[in-house]
Amino acid sequence: MATRKPLISGNWKMNHTHLDAIAVVQKLAYSLSPADYERAEVSVHPSFTSLRSVQTLLDADEVPIALGAQNVYPAPSGAFTGEVSPVMLAKLNVRYVIVGHSERRQLLGESDEMVNRKLVAVLEHQMVPILCVGETLEEREAGTTQDKVLGQLEAAFQGVDAAAAAKVVIAYEPIWAIGTGRTASPEDAQAVCASVRSWVAKAYGAEVASTTRAQYGGSVTPDNVAELMAQPDIDGALVGGASLDAERFARIARLGTGPA
Ligand code: PEP
Repeated sequence: MATRKPLISGNWKMNHTHLDAIAVVQKLAYSLSPADYERAEVSVHPSFTSLRSVQTLLDADEVPIALGAQNVYPAPSGAFTGEVSPVMLAKLNVRYVIVGHSERRQLLGESDEMVNRKLVAVLEHQMVPILCVGETLEEREAGTTQDKVLGQLEAAFQGVDAAAAAKVVIAYEPIWAIGTGRTASPEDAQAVCASVRSWVAKAYGAEVASTTRAQYGGSVTPDNVAELMAQPDIDGALVGGASLDAERFARIARLGTGPA
């Protein structure tokens, strides 16, 4: 079986000025040890206004935390007022880009087609998409979780070949668990992540599926992370609220990656 290094990602959403972001990353770097980075990869996803400051800090101190973005526009440049291109992100050494977060899909009207274009653009610029998929509470209660998640995968991977697909991180984020304090049970999260992996196997073959990293996201905290990450098909966490504080996020990164 392929070994998949867990990826623990902090999605700061629209929080922290660039000064706050620097302070949080400094504390985070101080809290994590080389042994922690051995067991897991850690990424932080500040807002666009903080990316350059955080990049400068990570580079100057050679901190092995990966820089991530929360969004991208799927064109290299052009008349797209207010948008940020994959070329700009790549130039800042951004490694991971969140694509299709439910807040963007629900609040900002991002369609499956746009999510697909963003995924492709990130891959074309040698960065790694973290593709978010997940169901609403109504869909879960109606028993259509699998249909929703697999449909989102089908749409997002349109036109993506196996070599490119192998790089994508898939984050299962039940919408009802995001920012609500409600978490999917480890068994439920495992069941969906297992079907995500089966979908990848069907679409791209068993080898790609065995290396695909599937994260869980939705009210992850230091108290619930270990149990979630102990599931065989969960390879990391996408963390919102609990990643804003360096000490809490460092505890999640440590607890989510197995015993020291
Ligand atoms: C998220 O932003 O992707 C998320 C999972 O948020 P939270 O951890 O706050 O639920």
